[in-house]
Amino acid sequence: MRQLQLPAFEFTEEQKEFRKEVRSFLQAEQQKGTFDTHADSWLSAYSEEFSKKLGAKGWIGITFPKKYGGHARSSIDRYIITEELLAFGAPVASHWFADRQSGPLLLKFGTEEQKEFFIPKIVKGECYFSIGLSEPNSGSDLASLKTTAEKVDGGWIVNGMKTWTSGAHHSHYMITLCRTSPQDPKNRHGGMSQLIIDLKSDGVTIRPIQFLTGEHHFNEVFLENVFVPDNRVVGEVGNGWAQGLTELAFERSGPERILSTFPLLEEAIRLLKEKEDHRGLMEAAKLVSRMWSLRNMSIGIAALLEEKKDVNLAAALVKDLGNSFEQHVAEVIRLLLPAMPRKHAEDEYARLLAESILHGPGFTIRGGTTEILRGIVGKGVISA
Ligand SMILES: Cc1cc2nc3c(=O)[nH]c(=O)nc-3n(C[C@H](O)[C@H](O)[C@H](O)COP(=O)(O)OP(=O)(O)OC[C@H]3O[C@@H](n4cnc5c(N)ncnc54)[C@H](O)[C@@H]3O)c2cc1C
Repeated sequence: MRQLQLPAFEFTEEQKEFRKEVRSFLQAEQQKGTFDTHADSWLSAYSEEFSKKLGAKGWIGITFPKKYGGHARSSIDRYIITEELLAFGAPVASHWFADRQSGPLLLKFGTEEQKEFFIPKIVKGECYFSIGLSEPNSGSDLASLKTTAEKVDGGWIVNGMKTWTSGAHHSHYMITLCRTSPQDPKNRHGGMSQLIIDLKSDGVTIRPIQFLTGEHHFNEVFLENVFVPDNRVVGEVGNGWAQGLTELAFERSGPERILSTFPLLEEAIRLLKEKEDHRGLMEAAKLVSRMWSLRNMSIGIAALLEEKKDVNLAAALVKDLGNSFEQHVAEVIRLLLPAMPRKHAEDEYARLLAESILHGPGFTIRGGTTEILRGIVGKGVISA
C-alpha cells in the first residue's frame, strides 16, 4: 500500500509580506465598494472589471513564463493570492478557469502560436475560458462522450452538445473534448482530442440552466457544424484524454475545494463573538481546526506542484475531504445561528447562509463526484 506524503510547508518572510500586500489591496477594494463578499465566489461571482484589475496588478497567470506576459513566480505565491481572494469572497469567476487550468494546459501542450495568442490576454484578465467536458449522458464516465469532430480541409467540423458548462455565457472560448475517431472498445480513452472553440462561432448556441437560487451560472452548449481551424487543436490529435487528466490535477488541487463557504464561517464567528456565545465559538473552533489541517494538506500540494511532481492522487483526496468540509460548515453554522437564509437579504449573514446552503450540493459533484474521487484514491493507494 502506498502512503500519501505531503510536504510540510513554512511560508517565508517574503511570502508573508506578499500576503499582506494582497490582503491590503482587497480590504481597500472592499471599502471602496468594488465588491460584496460572496460564498462560492470563484464559481459564481463575475466581474470583468475586477478580473482586469487583478491582471493589472500582475496577479493572474502569476506562475506563467515572462515570455508570454506572465510573472514566473511560484505556485506558493499563486496559492497565497487564491486563498486571499476566496477568503474575501471576491468576484473572480470570470478569469478563474483560464488562470487555473486553460492557461497551464496551453503552456504544457499548446503550439507556440497558441501560447503567443492566448496567454498574454489571459494574464491581463481579459480572456475567459470554459471547460467543455460533460455531456447529458457522459459525466463521470466521460469516455462515453458523443460530441464529434470530423476532419475537413483546414480544420474540423464539430457536432454535439455539452452541458453544465460553467460561465459559457461569459467566456470567449471553450476547451472542448470531442471524439476525433470512433470509439475502440479495446481502448475507450483513445480517439479523443481537445479543440479550442470560439464561443462566438456560427453554430454555437448557449442556453442557461438555472441554479436552485435562480442564478444563471452554468449552461447547455449546442454545437451544430461548428468549424474549428487546425490551429485551434490543443496538443496531439487523439491525445485528448491524457491531456485532460493533466488539466484535472490543476482543477482539483486548489484551496477553492476547501474555502467555498469560508466567508460564512468568518461572518458567523464575528456574530458569535459579538453575542459572547462561548459554546457556539467552541463549535466554530472545531471547524477552524479541521480547516487548518485541510489547508496544510492543500499547501503541501502546491509545494508538490512547485517541484513538478504528480499530484493526481493527492488532489483527489484533498478535494474529497475539502468538499465535505465546505458542506459541513453550512450545516453546523445554520444550527449555531438560526436565521432565515435569503439570497437577496441586506443582512450579510442571511445572504451568505443562503448561498452556502443552495450552492452546497454542487461542491461534491463539480470537478469529479465523491464516489469517483474515492475510486481514484482507492486504486492509486492499492496499485502502488
Ligand atoms: C456547479 C457545477 C459546475 C460544473 N461545471 C462544469 C463545467 O464547467 N464543465 C463541465 O464539463 N462539467 C461541469 N460540471 C459537471 C460535472 O463535472 C458533472 O456533473 C460530474 O462529473 C458528474 O457527472 P453527471 O452529472 O453526469 O453524474 P453521473 O456521472 O451520472 O453520476 C451520478 C451519480 O452516480 C455516481 N457514479 C457514477 N459513476 C460511478 C461509478 N463508476 N462508481 C460509483 N458511483 C458512480 C456519481 O458519483 C453520482 O453520485 C459542473 C457540475 C456542477 C455541479
